[in-house]
Amino acid sequence: MKDETIAVVAGRDPKAHHGAVNTPVYRTSTILFETFEDFAAGVHDPANRKFMYGRIGTPTSASLEDAVAQLEGGAHCRLAPSGLAAITTALLAFLSAGDHLLMTIGAYHPTHDFCNSILKQFGVETTYYDPLIGAEIEKLIRPNTKVVFVESPSTGLFEVQDIPAIAQVAHGHQAIVMMDNTWASPLYFKPFTHGVDVSIQAATKYIVGHSDAMLGTITTTDAAWETVQNAHRYLGQMAGPDDIYLALRGLRTLATRLPVHHKNGLALARYLATQSEVEHIYHPALEGDPGYARWRRDFLGACGLFSFRLKPWVTRAALATMLESLQLFGMGGSWGGYESLVSPFRLKTYRDVSKDDDRWIVRIHAGLENVEDLIEDLDAGFAKLSALK
Ligand SMILES: *Cc1c(COP(=O)(O)O)cnc(C)c1O
Repeated sequence: MKDETIAVVAGRDPKAHHGAVNTPVYRTSTILFETFEDFAAGVHDPANRKFMYGRIGTPTSASLEDAVAQLEGGAHCRLAPSGLAAITTALLAFLSAGDHLLMTIGAYHPTHDFCNSILKQFGVETTYYDPLIGAEIEKLIRPNTKVVFVESPSTGLFEVQDIPAIAQVAHGHQAIVMMDNTWASPLYFKPFTHGVDVSIQAATKYIVGHSDAMLGTITTTDAAWETVQNAHRYLGQMAGPDDIYLALRGLRTLATRLPVHHKNGLALARYLATQSEVEHIYHPALEGDPGYARWRRDFLGACGLFSFRLKPWVTRAALATMLESLQLFGMGGSWGGYESLVSPFRLKTYRDVSKDDDRWIVRIHAGLENVEDLIEDLDAGFAKLSALK
């Protein structure tokens, strides 16, 4: 089956739910057993629709886990209450005191915060590496390196990592490769055919797709499954049934929404390239971007998230005037919903540049609005900005 079909049929079993098209919200802690024998066996076997306790899984969670595992091309999946909880659970599953972790500088910042606090507190050492390191990562591997964490394209600057090259080196040293695959969603990057062992989605973004729920997914190969499944259970991770339902509902239209985010994002990036106050665009699917060739090689599409950098003269106050004038772009964190967003950051938030470098980056999420309306809105904003020069 092709992805569009998998997104519609995977994880659904109407016969088990009186014919209802969508797997209903199972709100339960206790699950009752018919016989002493079944109770004593305490079976949990979602494949055969046997559940034992709300925290361990329900038909609602099993539906989404099956669908995400199939779409990402992994063997199994577990859910967590947020994307960040999925990341921290996966890292804790594989790392012990005395271990070493290689973490991309380009990862989502709360992932770094976790490494610098909790992992450090438990005796795990983190080395940050340049996202563009490729096979040179060999030089950073130590005998105790257990996990190489990748996120591609990187948060903020959207550099594309050479994941197959990194995976080859990591596997040569018995380290596993863990990926934050949120940007591409399960549709536009297939982690397990590129050497990834554990793939994380902040389902909060495109899977939910409507900015109204938080959820994370951890999908693994067969080999990595037991470790993740156990850690997930020992840490008491689970997600609420209503949020899982919203993610399932979002997933059904993911393959229809994502091409529009791709198209609108690229159209906005091309428009921005014509603007005189814009110094640089960070979008791997834009011809001429340093990551373009690798993106073409490894990815099946682009989502609606990218950034642009403004000329150095643009002050915080000037940028505020421009962004506050926008009518169609909300200002806020997160992304992946149906609506367009702008989020301003300093360049130095993402990389070591000089302390006095005050240049601003604006992250754009291209939503599902008509792109001509979006361009008109930005155009009015740039007119306001230029008038302040
Ligand atoms: C948002 C995000 C996360 C975290 O997801 P939450 O559901 O907000 O915890 C992780 N990685 C990336 C790349 C993200 O954008």
